[in-house]
Amino acid sequence: MRHQKFYSLFLALLMLNGCSVLQGSKLLAPESFGLVSIAPRVYIEKGADITIRNKLLESVKKSETAVHSAYGGVTSHPFIHACVSEECYERFGGRGSTAKVYYDRILLSPRGLNWHFLAHEWSHAEMLSRLSFIAWWRLPQWFDEGVAVAVSEAPEHSEEHWQFLVSSNVPRPNSQELHTFKSLSEWNDAVGRYGEKLNKERKARGEPEIRPVYSAAGHELRPWLAKTGSAGLLQLIEQMNEGVAFESAYQTANE
Ligand SMILES: [Zn+2]
Repeated sequence: MRHQKFYSLFLALLMLNGCSVLQGSKLLAPESFGLVSIAPRVYIEKGADITIRNKLLESVKKSETAVHSAYGGVTSHPFIHACVSEECYERFGGRGSTAKVYYDRILLSPRGLNWHFLAHEWSHAEMLSRLSFIAWWRLPQWFDEGVAVAVSEAPEHSEEHWQFLVSSNVPRPNSQELHTFKSLSEWNDAVGRYGEKLNKERKARGEPEIRPVYSAAGHELRPWLAKTGSAGLLQLIEQMNEGVAFESAYQTANE
């Protein structure tokens, strides 16, 4: 089992992160690369002050509560790593993002050091821990992201932001198109196509940031989760593990 676990970890690292695998693998030995442990499974960059350390510990508690409430329990025990400098984040392969998860290793950038981003990544880790490897592979990326968006309650991906996109006529995927973002590369392509990777430039021009793809996933999943509750989510996970087609499991849970 031990070998299988490491094999899965290696595979997941490879498939999730491509070229940042090498840097990400440093998280297997965080203390050798400038992080210190402040609680079991919780690491922060050396030199972080007490306010930031406490904020991280509070975020861990709040995120665990959010994951518990969505999934009806917490089966994953991710290792959490927080960088307080961009240099640290890049050292672990975090370029071009705010937070990320490598299997059960969560990495937060200084910009993602709050419970919203932590809960988002923790939801990914929780989903992975509850699915067989094949079922996880078959699970559409948009669904995994939508659940993570709903669990995290991040203002950036909120219903309010969705309504802003609607009223500003910002191009955004409808539900039918969202369901086509199945693989990680299809999801990433859509995020790029809808301009979600250009927010740094928008911010520099004083324009509002837009997140049409993540917000669309949240817009779809929030009412689904409100209706099905954790029982519906667990039923979908069980059906995926039994080999049921995703769309069928998704519809059944909502009936
Ligand atoms: Zn995500």
